Amino acid sequence: MSTGHQPNIVLIVGAGPTGLTLAHELLRRSVQIRLIDKAPNASQNTKALGVWPRTLELFARTSTGIVDEMLERGVKTPSFHVWSEGNLLVHLDFAHRLAGSSYPFALMIPQAETEALLTQHVLSLGGTIERGTELLNLTQQEEGVEVMLRHADGQEEVARTDWLVGCDGAHSMVRHLVGMPFVGKTFEQSFVAGNVRMQWDLPPDEAHAFLHHGNTIAFFPMPDPFHYRVVITYQPAEAPQGEVTLEEVQHAISAFGGPAGARASAPRWLDRFLVDQRRVRRYVSGRVILAGDAAHLHTFVGAQGMNTGMQDAFNLAWKLALVVQGQAKVQLLESYGEEREHVSKELLAATGLAARLATAHQPVLIGVRNFLAPRLTALPLAQRLLIHALAELNISYRHSSIVQDDHARGAGKRAHLHPGDRAPDGHVWTFERNAPHQLFELLSGTRHTLLVFSQQQNGANMKELDLALAEFHDLVDIHQITRGTNGNGAQEGAAGRKLYDPDGSLAHCYGLANEGLVLIRPDGYIGFRSRAIEGEHLRRYLQDLFLTTSSLPLGRE
Ligand SMILES: Cc1cc2nc3c(=O)[nH]c(=O)nc-3n(C[C@H](O)[C@H](O)[C@H](O)COP(=O)(O)OP(=O)(O)OC[C@H]3O[C@@H](n4cnc5c(N)ncnc54)[C@H](O)[C@@H]3O)c2cc1C
Repeated sequence: MSTGHQPNIVLIVGAGPTGLTLAHELLRRSVQIRLIDKAPNASQNTKALGVWPRTLELFARTSTGIVDEMLERGVKTPSFHVWSEGNLLVHLDFAHRLAGSSYPFALMIPQAETEALLTQHVLSLGGTIERGTELLNLTQQEEGVEVMLRHADGQEEVARTDWLVGCDGAHSMVRHLVGMPFVGKTFEQSFVAGNVRMQWDLPPDEAHAFLHHGNTIAFFPMPDPFHYRVVITYQPAEAPQGEVTLEEVQHAISAFGGPAGARASAPRWLDRFLVDQRRVRRYVSGRVILAGDAAHLHTFVGAQGMNTGMQDAFNLAWKLALVVQGQAKVQLLESYGEEREHVSKELLAATGLAARLATAHQPVLIGVRNFLAPRLTALPLAQRLLIHALAELNISYRHSSIVQDDHARGAGKRAHLHPGDRAPDGHVWTFERNAPHQLFELLSGTRHTLLVFSQQQNGANMKELDLALAEFHDLVDIHQITRGTNGNGAQEGAAGRKLYDPDGSLAHCYGLANEGLVLIRPDGYIGFRSRAIEGEHLRRYLQDLFLTTSSLPLGRE
């Protein structure tokens, strides 16, 4: 048995999509990590296929090119159709209803490809993945965690880490070792998932589901032409047992209302599952933190599992990096739990309801569903709400203890956008180019971004603001966004790059009439907003968030 002491590191247990995303985000912030996975090789399983716009937006903010690589390898699915007994119940039109995102589609890319891309990026940032290394035990201590690991050759190692993040999936050993109950239930329906080639007349990039008296069959396009992910759901009494065969898939196509004449062939992977709907109530226990499937599990309905795990990682990474690097108090990590526990609670409720509606088998319920669904989902507002929920664009941390509106200044109580919401993208102009940029193309990075919307260049209030925020210049990027165009001779200045919002539409989009401040967190959510360019409230907000020399007790600088 070997022993090792590696101070100041984060041990990530599990190199699935959640662990890889977290590793990527911590490495980008120069945090020393150790990433282990008990599996000897990367999984070749195609499990998750659907990647939603919010996840793509968050990866785009990393400016590593990973989104372009994902887009190259995946299929852009513009719509999803749900049918029952030959009638179209729901048509979700992603292309039109996601126009506010740079990614108005669901991207279908096999999980193994997503993991392979993330792995390349983790390695290119200097990370390593210790495969064949299993976490066997952990003991929390005051200043860290002691772990027992087993390597592929059977050697055991005792190591110490400051922080441990359990990204070790549904059967999480970390969750078990810290004794966090995984509360929920197992669905009574049984599921089949697999990949098949389809011969039919449907457009190759669309997704379709067919519902029939509590049983369902759904198809999602895969990057290989004519290949689809097929998912079948059976009522308990009707579920076949044993190995899944192509004949079973073909039977389900005809029995559950699939298109006449559709033929499945070339199965590449077919498996039978039971699905759990569970979550832990607390994501943080001392110096041990959970993320991804280790913290929440839901049905495949809505294709949310991997997306939610990756977004856990984006939420956690910037906070953990600040804490590890001594730039924020440990209490900041509580907001990770607070914000993401709420997301998983809502997600379980929504996916559970969707699954119950899809698999309803009581004739009265089916009648009500089939009557209401086409009428409700045809309403533009209902389409938008539903699609934004699927795309995870509606996730908001308005309830969080670390977001703030400067109400004293009357900031936007009536505005539709609030601190805690996703920061919307928009157009800005720069001095160098006489054509618009996407705001977020210019704002990628690892730090907080302060947008200062002002009427005039470098006014007195700008100078006061600069002074008030002097102690945060290493932690916050400041961009002044001025009304008017770049024809009025702007220069690069001390407060950062100058941007233009000629008609004020970006300010309006952020709920500001004329002037104001918007602080965007590194994970793309609004942390603070004020309707005046005034530094004092923001300074106090930042002092609560960060540890700077002025917030340390005397003698600890
Ligand atoms: C058929 C199917 C279809 C799906 N479709 C979608 C979809 O379209 N969209 C979507 O968002 N989600 C989908 N999901 C869910 C998605 O696959 C999961 O949510 C995702 O894999 C979770 O990622 P994770 O990194 O949290 O956990 P995992 O992918 O389970 O990774 C956990 C890792 O931890 C390692 N590990 C476990 N224990 C230890 C230990 N003790 N020591 C060291 N390492 C350990 C494992 O080897 C594994 O590599 C689907 C799932 C299935 C089964």
